Amino acid sequence: MDTIRLNEWGFATDKPFVIAGPCSVETPQQLDATVGKLVEKGIQIIRGGVWKPRTRPNSFEGVGEIALPWIKDIKEKYGVSFAIEVASPYHVEKALEYGIDILWIGARSTVNPFTVQEIANALKGVDIPVLVKNPVNPDLALWIGALERINQAGIKRLGAIHRGFSNFNDQTYRNSPLWQIPLELKTRYPAIPLINDPSHICGKRDLIPMIAQMALDLDMDGLIIESHIHPDEAWSDVAQQLTPDDLGVLLEQLHVPNSSAENPIFKSKLELIREQIDEVDRALLSTLRQRMKLVEQAGVFKKENDQALFQMERWKKVFESRPEWAVQMQLNPDFIKELFQIIHVESIKVQAELMEGVEKKGS
Ligand code: PEP
Ligand code: MN
Repeated sequence: MDTIRLNEWGFATDKPFVIAGPCSVETPQQLDATVGKLVEKGIQIIRGGVWKPRTRPNSFEGVGEIALPWIKDIKEKYGVSFAIEVASPYHVEKALEYGIDILWIGARSTVNPFTVQEIANALKGVDIPVLVKNPVNPDLALWIGALERINQAGIKRLGAIHRGFSNFNDQTYRNSPLWQIPLELKTRYPAIPLINDPSHICGKRDLIPMIAQMALDLDMDGLIIESHIHPDEAWSDVAQQLTPDDLGVLLEQLHVPNSSAENPIFKSKLELIREQIDEVDRALLSTLRQRMKLVEQAGVFKKENDQALFQMERWKKVFESRPEWAVQMQLNPDFIKELFQIIHVESIKVQAELMEGVEKKGS
């Protein structure tokens, strides 16, 4: 994808890149009081939902476009930039009319290629940063597809927001983080900035510091965090919004690790460790090859003696002993058990193939 790196987007480049503000814009007073405090904490980019996608009907769906003139006034009063969610060409048109600085596409829109394409079409010929939230379901291709559609419309200041994934049974998070998905996106598209949304992952205040720190430790570029002057009175997402004061404390406490790209000593030491890992992996594979050769020998021997290939007693012993050995060697027994299940399947397959070969030759 043809994109521009975050440090050339025209915003302050301190790491992390932070966007903060209320889940929803509610009233001019709420907006003014929240933004005034956030500015005191050093926040320069404010978020605020104008149109809210709600899972169930008859709940607060955002105040709508009457919020846009309030936002325009706030931008002028405090000199801040402002980000809002857009879910239709009309939203895009209105956002541009009122000088909104950053647009984001919500998780419920990213899932729908028709919606994303309509938004992309409305963005043709426009130069504005667009952030694409991950789809609600854990589907990396859908996330990448949405980024591509927006990029093909000519948007080069393009970023991704990791807001976690819907789940049926996660007792801890509102949206399971499934870190491997954003990390895979980052591996495939290292130039696309990746911003973590701990608010919508956690769903409750107390978990936010841990998730935000994890995101920075994983070298994500920024954070988008919900903050409201009176979280308990918020019209949406009550449990997860932080006061601007609490947000200030959180930002002070976060530790920003050095980016590995900037530290040659770290890089060369890591390279050394990785070379050793490569060596160990070669040895591991050679041991595995040795094991498979023995499995083949055992297979031939069973056949010669007219014995069944699968001997349950033997595998019972293997599945019992390997996890025990694992514990003695400070390895996770569950992992080793799983590993041996895979090895078992392959061993039986190898023996069965061998037998077929022997039978064919004989016939
Ligand atoms: C939001 O950012 O307020 C929002 C609705 O988020 P998401 O699309 O991630 O659910
Ligand atoms: Mn919200």
